[in-house]
Amino acid sequence: MTGRTLAELQALERDHAIPTYVRNPVQFVRGAGCRLWDDEGHEYLDFLAGISVLNVGHCHPRVVAAVQEQAAQLTHVTNLYYTEPALALSAALARSSLGGKVFLTNSGAEAIEAALKLVRRARPGGRVVVLNGGFHGRTFGALSATPQESKQAPFAPLVPGFVAVPHDPAALERAVDEETAAVLLEPIQGESGIYVLDEELLVAARAACDRTGAALVFDEIQTGMGRTGTLWAYEASPVVPDALTSAKGLGGGLPIGALVTGERLADVLQPGDHGSTFAGGPVACRAALEALAICSDPELLARVRELGERLMEGLAELQFVAGVRGRGLIVAVDLIPELSAPDLARRALLEQRLVVNATGPATIRLEPPLVISPDEVDEALTRLAALAP
Ligand SMILES: *Cc1c(COP(=O)(O)O)cnc(C)c1O
Repeated sequence: MTGRTLAELQALERDHAIPTYVRNPVQFVRGAGCRLWDDEGHEYLDFLAGISVLNVGHCHPRVVAAVQEQAAQLTHVTNLYYTEPALALSAALARSSLGGKVFLTNSGAEAIEAALKLVRRARPGGRVVVLNGGFHGRTFGALSATPQESKQAPFAPLVPGFVAVPHDPAALERAVDEETAAVLLEPIQGESGIYVLDEELLVAARAACDRTGAALVFDEIQTGMGRTGTLWAYEASPVVPDALTSAKGLGGGLPIGALVTGERLADVLQPGDHGSTFAGGPVACRAALEALAICSDPELLARVRELGERLMEGLAELQFVAGVRGRGLIVAVDLIPELSAPDLARRALLEQRLVVNATGPATIRLEPPLVISPDEVDEALTRLAALAP
């Protein structure tokens, strides 16, 4: 690129970008591992990983090599023809999880849309039960599955047929009947502030689906790809879903998502039922094959669990932290009432060159690349401690 300054980018944004994002005043130009560099050469420690996208770290050499090779060889032909990367990735994803079949997409919301079509096709007209506080994406189906007034209200009417229930096993059981197509949930709610669902609630969801024939779908777009210390979050519970969605970390930095089914739902969608021009493109699939292999490594997963503990213990000792929760390297801290999380996140970025994110007025989210070292965990804790009031 031409090396425009931050001020020049802000002018372009003001005149030409639909203002849906509130950007921080930093231009990043390079990344490697857990580090980012801005246009003035300052180095940052990344504890957000592009919202759990760079699980393998920025510009992982295996991802870069696969993308470079594939980009020079073949970038696109559509799903009207065979290409090896898409089918190799489908097989690797299915074998790594539910054992059924895969529909590839370009994003998380699209994976949710595919899941919604799948469960409706399996039980025509059926309702979808979701949990309060859940987040499943911004397209109309995914938004309709996201029971948050502020996100939904401006866009009514939404897609009908969604029912939201509280985090209560009895309420969930009551909401599921023979006209329920699916229960859709995040095993750890990410966007709403890292709430790990009780095992009891997951078990109740599985039982309700078994009782009625509804499908249990886990949205693992944020929790998958090793983030929680197992490749998929469901592996840490006794519950196996009938389908799951993946995206974010799946592409090692490239945009890709997937719907993965178990055996029962593998052949529900039939020719002509669904499609996507770009989905399964060779470049994104090559990147995802590398990312999936890297994140499946048992040593990496053990380190995610270990460093998650180290991070959470260190955070709990900070004087301005009121509470810590999470699993593996998906962690939230609640701040004492005197502090604003958006302010703290901004100061962390600008004063300490530490990238974190606020999920609400009092909550900071930490999701570093999974390739982080113990020293980098300690460094982040030191930088956070320096922000004490
Ligand atoms: C980010 C996210 C989505 C939406 O993914 P996009 O790629 O932004 O469409 C859906 N579900 C969960 C749990 C997410 O974290």
